[in-house]
Amino acid sequence: MSVQKHAEKFSAPRKDRNGRIQLVALSLPEMQDVLGEHKLPNFRSKQIWNWIYQRGVTTFDAMANLPKDLRNILAEQYVIDRPDLVTEQISADGTIKWLLGMSDGQQVEMVFIPTPKRGTLCVSSQVGCTLTCKFCHTGTQPLVRNLGAHEILQQVMFAKDYLKEWPSSGEKEGRDLTNIVMMGMGEPLYNYENVAKALKICMHPDGLGISKRHITLSTSGVVPQIEKCGEELGVNLAISLHAPNDAIRSEIMPINNKYPLADLLNACRSYPGVSAMRRITFEYVMLDGVNDSDENARQLAKILVDIPCKINLIPFNAWEKSGFVCSPMARIESFASILESAGYEAPIRRPRGRDILAACGQLKSESQRKKIGQETGD
Ligand code: SAH
Ligand code: SF4
Repeated sequence: MSVQKHAEKFSAPRKDRNGRIQLVALSLPEMQDVLGEHKLPNFRSKQIWNWIYQRGVTTFDAMANLPKDLRNILAEQYVIDRPDLVTEQISADGTIKWLLGMSDGQQVEMVFIPTPKRGTLCVSSQVGCTLTCKFCHTGTQPLVRNLGAHEILQQVMFAKDYLKEWPSSGEKEGRDLTNIVMMGMGEPLYNYENVAKALKICMHPDGLGISKRHITLSTSGVVPQIEKCGEELGVNLAISLHAPNDAIRSEIMPINNKYPLADLLNACRSYPGVSAMRRITFEYVMLDGVNDSDENARQLAKILVDIPCKINLIPFNAWEKSGFVCSPMARIESFASILESAGYEAPIRRPRGRDILAACGQLKSESQRKKIGQETGD
């Protein structure tokens, strides 16, 4: 397949079902270019940008400071919609999981995790994933396609609608959505251009205005893209590490064969802006008998010694036929205490939304889940 065909096959449609052009995720200069075709002065684009990102409107009709005939023209040719809500599940712990449908029918999951101090939105970057980390449910769904920048941004806008966080929503004080983590379905650094485009508008003061300090991108370790991510976006970096040496890591994460630990840790050491104040987060899933021995903890403490970091220990979230079991809590605690005595912060992540399969690594398109179910007779 040619490079062009490959890119087309995995890219997102830019028009909706009615052939209207999506305005969400166009940068301001791009919007000026597009609307320039209608001979609109630049200030009109700025007005429309504000309506979209600051007020959260989804129709041109609501754009009160635009002339009526212009609103009609825009509505015929352009669109500023949201993904369709396919299903919503609310966990006993308050975590919400939405299955969202895109204009071509593809689906992704998004999760909102409220805590007393913050509200974290876990956003997807791809439908499926090309990487096949052995412990990850998402990894069993082959990549269908990348999400477009608009589809990534629309997930955040969908959550803002739901949480009534636009000024026009009125009745609510304060914000619930404080943090964004690119930790949903897919590998964000394999869809870097679209992720970057969406996050730039998320962070833009005239966009959604969410500070880069409150945005974290998680990667399984796509080394060549890490520096660019730090330089261009400056968001917090989380690394799915999960092993203290190449032998174990390659066994459970095939990407390690391409980008081994030494290269990954070097990229972390030189991540732009990393400091004791802005540490890297290493995620470490606790797999019984695989990566959870005291010796593994000591080795981990050793390899991370010169990287300002914190280690998140994640109890493995089980899914059927994974072949893995979560380490017993006593083992996780012993692992944590070795890291702590070596001077690391190593909190044990409390699983959220497990009852609705919304926890880390459990996300999957519902259609895919059904398909696998049919194939395996589940
Ligand atoms: N592809 C990116 C973003 C997904 S983040 C990445 O891998 O970093 C999802 C996080 O959950 C990753 O750290 C992933 O390794 C972890 N994870 C995957 N499956 C899991 C499971 N079954 N239990 C706990 N954590 C899991
Ligand atoms: Fe993909 Fe991340 Fe899951 Fe690995 S852990 S299969 S990179 S989503």
